[in-house]
Amino acid sequence: MSIRFRLLLSYIALLLVPIILTIIVGVFAGFYYIEDVHRNYPGIEKVHTMKQAVTKTEVLFSDIKKISLRNPEKFLEEEFLNDVEEKLLTFNAAFIVRKGDQITYGRSVFEYISETEELPQFGEYVYDVPITNDDIDEGLRLNQHDFYFTDGSEGSIFIITNIEPMRRNFQELINTLMITIVIIIVITNGTLTYLVAGSIVKPLSKLKDSANRIKEGDLDFEVKINEKDEIGELSQAFEEMRKRLKNSIDIQHQYEENRKELFSNISHDLKTPITTIKGYVEGIKDGVADTPEKMEKYINTIYAKTEDVDRLIDDLFLFSKLDLNKLPLHLKTIDLSKYFTDLLEELKFDLEEKSVDIHYDNKAGDSTLVVADVMQLKRVIVNIIENAVKYMDKPQGIINIILRPDNGDMIVEIKDNGQGIPTDTIAFIFDRFYRGDPARNTLTGGSGLGLAIAKKIIEEHDGRMWAESVEGEGTSIFFTLKKSKSGDIA
Ligand code: ADP
Repeated sequence: MSIRFRLLLSYIALLLVPIILTIIVGVFAGFYYIEDVHRNYPGIEKVHTMKQAVTKTEVLFSDIKKISLRNPEKFLEEEFLNDVEEKLLTFNAAFIVRKGDQITYGRSVFEYISETEELPQFGEYVYDVPITNDDIDEGLRLNQHDFYFTDGSEGSIFIITNIEPMRRNFQELINTLMITIVIIIVITNGTLTYLVAGSIVKPLSKLKDSANRIKEGDLDFEVKINEKDEIGELSQAFEEMRKRLKNSIDIQHQYEENRKELFSNISHDLKTPITTIKGYVEGIKDGVADTPEKMEKYINTIYAKTEDVDRLIDDLFLFSKLDLNKLPLHLKTIDLSKYFTDLLEELKFDLEEKSVDIHYDNKAGDSTLVVADVMQLKRVIVNIIENAVKYMDKPQGIINIILRPDNGDMIVEIKDNGQGIPTDTIAFIFDRFYRGDPARNTLTGGSGLGLAIAKKIIEEHDGRMWAESVEGEGTSIFFTLKKSKSGDIA
């Protein structure tokens, strides 16, 4: 759940939970309030709703009004009046009857009203006064009904309801409710804030710990935060960053190792021919080469060894240039098909002498225009073909060059039927100074830089290079070149 959604939910809960809880508490408190009023004032009729209370008093009041209109003299009869008052008492109410200026009934309510003058005059109220019309005192409610006695004198009935106990209880109810609402809000708010903040703060502090570990240089751990929210995404990005950082540091270490290995390899590869040269020169100096034939053999060996050193230095020089991206490529559009046909013509005789047949198979049709540096491309292909010849173990060697299109690329496969490469070492053949022969004997010659250089050149062309091989059956070296978009041959 996203943090945004979680915050929204908690906001809704912050609104709804207190409302629902308040309603529930309100209902229970309401019932308790009714019971409490009844318990404290057992004489008062038990009503459960305001409507019930209003209806009951209204019915009674309208009965009184009807009687006053039909039979006003009844309001002078003691017995009737006591009867009415008894009924009114069940609502905690009493009544006063006034004829002219005289109070004719209503002694029991004098404790509520101290002065008769406080009562409104005849006609001061509209005829049909609603029962909740007015308060004459905070705890008392007065309803007035005016009528005429048969002798024409003015009569008024005042119903006085003592709402004080209800009011006091109601006030208590409101106070309790208010306190409850505050408690509910504080608890809901606290709980939700704790939960939401916890779910945000906890993974954040985990992330902070991870950041500190990385700061200290410790990259060997996993940032594991499983949240499916923004923090989860942040952690994923963080983990990705840690992995890349670790990777680049590992690569740096690897480079460091490679550099060390490179130095030791160069020293070794230079030392071997130079030791031989030194030996032969000493032989000449000491007069060991005492015949012209011996002398020629010594000189030839020295020459061959100097050539080895020269080639190694050349390769190294080229590789370091490529490594520093200092080799400028002279890219132009060439027709690869024509290029191979010409190249094969050139190499054929040399290869025939070494019992190797070379064939070319164009599976790309007419569109064989690519962008390449012809000089460097030749270096790549000659390198691969030289390897195919070097590692040939069949009496009749066969090399096939196959051209295939692949989207915007052209794939070149150079396939031989030589000794092949073991599966566990095929991944290393493009590494600098990697040589399949662990003895590093000089039988086949080579510096172990050939394929590393070829791959670098192809990568400079924005291409890829890889190998497939079956041990004992042969090897295929593949590389890609970008197809020419312009289509013009330069
Ligand atoms: P080298 O100078 O040793 O030929 P390369 O970089 O050209 O160096 O090749 C690296 C290694 O890959 C070789 O030592 C050899 O073991 C292996 N290799 C390359 N090409 C072939 C091939 N066509 N057949 C068998 N092994 C090969």
